[in-house]
Amino acid sequence: MLIKTAIVWFRQDLRLQDNPALQVACSRAENVLPVFILDPALPLGGASRWWLHHSLASLARSLAHQGSQLYIAQGPAQRELEHLIATTGATAVFWNRCFEPTLIARDTAIKTALHDQGLIAESFNALLLREPWQVKTKTGTPYKVFTPFWRSHQAIGPMPPPVAATPLKPPPPFQTTPLESLQLLPHIPWDSGLKETWVPGETGAHSRLETLVTGPLKTYHELRNLPDQPGTSLLSPHLHFGEISPRQIWHRVQKSLQQGEVPSGMGSVTFLNEIGWREFAYHLLYHFPQTVDTPLNPAFAAFPWRQDPKGLKAWQKGMTGYPIVDAGMRQLWHTGWMHNRVRMIVASFLTKDLILPWQQGAEWFWDTLVDADLASNTLGWQWAAGCGADAAPYFRIFNPITQGEKFDPDGQYVRRWVPELAALPAKWIHKPWAAPEEVLSSARVKLGVTYPEPMVDHAQARLAALAAYKEIAKRP
Ligand code: FAD
Repeated sequence: MLIKTAIVWFRQDLRLQDNPALQVACSRAENVLPVFILDPALPLGGASRWWLHHSLASLARSLAHQGSQLYIAQGPAQRELEHLIATTGATAVFWNRCFEPTLIARDTAIKTALHDQGLIAESFNALLLREPWQVKTKTGTPYKVFTPFWRSHQAIGPMPPPVAATPLKPPPPFQTTPLESLQLLPHIPWDSGLKETWVPGETGAHSRLETLVTGPLKTYHELRNLPDQPGTSLLSPHLHFGEISPRQIWHRVQKSLQQGEVPSGMGSVTFLNEIGWREFAYHLLYHFPQTVDTPLNPAFAAFPWRQDPKGLKAWQKGMTGYPIVDAGMRQLWHTGWMHNRVRMIVASFLTKDLILPWQQGAEWFWDTLVDADLASNTLGWQWAAGCGADAAPYFRIFNPITQGEKFDPDGQYVRRWVPELAALPAKWIHKPWAAPEEVLSSARVKLGVTYPEPMVDHAQARLAALAAYKEIAKRP
């Protein structure tokens, strides 16, 4: 049955290619209205708001280029959709699924309400290679450990290909509010580092993928842990906002292997494994939605976390006195992104050296990361705190000095982000407090003045963390 007017409701799929909701709408309707609704049900951090603004601007340009136009709205999604249906006479709404618990509840209610009104409401998978419920253990339960999850995920069969593009259909006549009315950009301009680092939007996403395939992919397994190297894809914000899909990434990597653009080997296997971690994060979020703020391991509910607003602030500002931690926190503040190895180090420092709740770290990441993603952020923080699925056990505590020496051996990452230590020799750069006085003074470092003294002694903090852990470990 041909539909006169359909709405395509864009959410975490801000792209025209491999977009099943858009493709189905354009193949079944005469007029297609592309819509984005800024819904207060989805609280966004500052960096995500910045990204969203530019991503929507890019989507609007791409739509206009093909004779369409993006409708922008703000408010509860159901109210806004019903208003649009009433004003355009649309009889169908198509969207791609999101998996955050509040969004699942909202979307289910909207679908039911639209069906009750005799309208067509259909949703599709565009965010993941496989949906969270498709992968299960032999007994039908969800996985809690990555390796068997990923094995089982891959064993289901070939990864689905991207959907073919369909020419866009013209929208019905309508008046939209300007993107600026959403007020997503900061009032105080703190975003210069974001502007220097990123090109939000579908074109920027594909250019990152091409850079990966023609560059770091072949050495990904060797360089991905070195934060001063361009060894990873930087695709995470593009993936979060759906400017590119994991299907497109998966099949582009496979094509590059078949065409010999990259040698088959550990680089691409390790990279695709990371895409697997993203799938695993969504699997966990879907099956254990309480983990957004509650530890998956219930014993950790009684963990004696400290409260220390001053300590938290020092961590957030990159003023802990541990150079690798401070470099990571400053990279995050400046660019909206932090290298994965350093995310693990700073998260371990917050939860184990400072014994502050992982939720406080997750909140800061939520506000400052351009790739802030409820599934991956929750998995990452619970993993680092030792209370989640597939967790590094709590007693495995990262040493910020040896981690720095191992993964930033020349200190280049620290020099880049903590310029006040730039002149220190590599031998001391990860432990300036241990450097001889003459080394410090010739590098113009005055501890406690130009750079902080370490805010805790790692060896003692480690013992305190282990003692706190023993408290909950001995409970039944
Ligand atoms: P690449 O190494 O190129 O990996 C390719 C893609 O795989 C990434 O873009 C990402 O989508 C996925 N991926 C890689 N590692 C992981 C992982 N450990 N878990 C889930 N997916 C992964 N990632 C986010 O996208 N959003 C977050 O909010 C987030 N918070 C994190 C918090 C902590 C405490 C930790 C330890 C990790 C977090 N990660 C998060 C995971 C990881 O750090 C980032 O995905 C990665 O650094 C992004 O850089 P990239 O795109 O260059 O990754």
